[in-house]
Amino acid sequence: MPQRKELTEICHKVYEKEFVAAYDGNLSVRMDEKRILITPSGKNKGDVEEKDLLEIDYHGNLLQGEGKVSTEAKIHLVAYQKRPDVSAVIHCHPVYSTAFAAIGEGLMRPIFPEVILSLGKVPLCKYGTPSTDDLPNSMLPYIDFVWALLLENHGAVTFGKNIKGAYFRMEKLEHAAKTIYIARTMGREKNLPISKLKELYSLAEEVYGIKIDKRNRFDF
Ligand SMILES: [Zn+2]
Repeated sequence: MPQRKELTEICHKVYEKEFVAAYDGNLSVRMDEKRILITPSGKNKGDVEEKDLLEIDYHGNLLQGEGKVSTEAKIHLVAYQKRPDVSAVIHCHPVYSTAFAAIGEGLMRPIFPEVILSLGKVPLCKYGTPSTDDLPNSMLPYIDFVWALLLENHGAVTFGKNIKGAYFRMEKLEHAAKTIYIARTMGREKNLPISKLKELYSLAEEVYGIKIDKRNRFDF
């Protein structure tokens, strides 16, 4: 599917899922070594059309399109600069994930096997005022090895090798955050034991060929 069409469809999904309100959030894909396709500032994601998407360079300069580049483009730029394996970035404010960010807690415990394999650790990045460099800088300690991040008192970011991958990680992150929230009203979530984690990682590697960076594993 052409990139513009696919990105537009995911924008609509993000809004339908209530991962954003009003003009919140921004989504992007890497087009080539010179261009990034990104949503414009001040546009509701439910209303985004293919023609609204902007082409920017890796410094955030507008190359093509009518709208304004979001100050949050910096979140995307740092990801593309630091992670050659990342080709899509989604930033939004899903309620349960953002609630964890608001109490200053990342999702850093090994609870659900599928979340462990698809997301791994979801660290909390220290609060940075939107539009300043503090925001992308807060991502630097973790950016080399994670696929999802929480931004303190702000929201969430996910990465993907394509936009669907980034979207499904956002959906999974929000689902996990919601489930943990509900679990805590009933008791307390339990970590998987190290022996079961080792079994899970070796199964993932042998059967599915999934190799996870040591820094993003819970058994090291
Ligand atoms: Zn934001």
